[in-house]
Amino acid sequence: MSTLQAGFRFSRFNLEDYTVCPSQFRLRHLDQVIWPALRTARTAEYDERMARGRFFHTLIQQHTLGLDVTELVGGADEQIQGWWQAFISQGPAIPAGRVFTEIELTAPLLRWSIVARFDRVIAQPDGRILIIDWKAEDRLPKRAWVEHNFQTRVYLYVMAEAGHQLAGRPITPDSIEMLYWWANYPQQSIHLPYNQAWHSANRSNLEASVAQIAAEPEDGFPLTDDLRVCALCEYRSLHGRDISAADPAQISAESNLSMETLELDMEGMLGNLPDLEL
Ligand code: SF4
Repeated sequence: MSTLQAGFRFSRFNLEDYTVCPSQFRLRHLDQVIWPALRTARTAEYDERMARGRFFHTLIQQHTLGLDVTELVGGADEQIQGWWQAFISQGPAIPAGRVFTEIELTAPLLRWSIVARFDRVIAQPDGRILIIDWKAEDRLPKRAWVEHNFQTRVYLYVMAEAGHQLAGRPITPDSIEMLYWWANYPQQSIHLPYNQAWHSANRSNLEASVAQIAAEPEDGFPLTDDLRVCALCEYRSLHGRDISAADPAQISAESNLSMETLELDMEGMLGNLPDLEL
């Protein structure tokens, strides 16, 4: 019998967690173990970076809603002010259309579902869908890595399967495009036009990933051998890997580490809570 309960929702974050450490996936998303990790100077620095990224997303969200963020920007640190200037002066061209901010969609995936929370979606009058994701990472990853990471794959899959709810009419994968915009590299956006062939391959790969997780036996979900992953994991004392926390800046954006250690958006705050049974 699968260890996954009916109603379990996959996301880019729990798929990433499983990829870097199956045990971490189980503890966080199945058993939901809350385990206090020792706070060090480096984890504190990491927390600060995450908080900065979340604040930047909040600025964009409020600005999109038409709110005046002048005071918020004025009270922010230099780095956030720099990101904001880049956003205002070199942000991506936004096409006309219906704008959705911090919108969540869920699509079926085998016997389960998969969720994506989008920074911004524009449903254009001609039926095209543009997904925009704001990034505040220090390093600019290569396009090939961006194409294959779980965020891209999950977001495009979910939009193709559930985006009609936003568009108000059926959409095809060929009508979807994803755009990553980096606050530290505002001129180097990456555009990813989706298509049917990519969607078919994407579906197969995501189904294979969730099938692998669902097939884990009760005593499965092994610990990773990669101590770099443990260095920023809250369960490191639980597993006797209470080594000094890694310097997040040393973790390459193209390593196989969880994007949760690198991402600066809001979705990670949501976790993967089980559906309530009424
Ligand atoms: S401490 Fe290491 S082995 Fe344990 S859950 Fe975290 S990443 Fe996995």
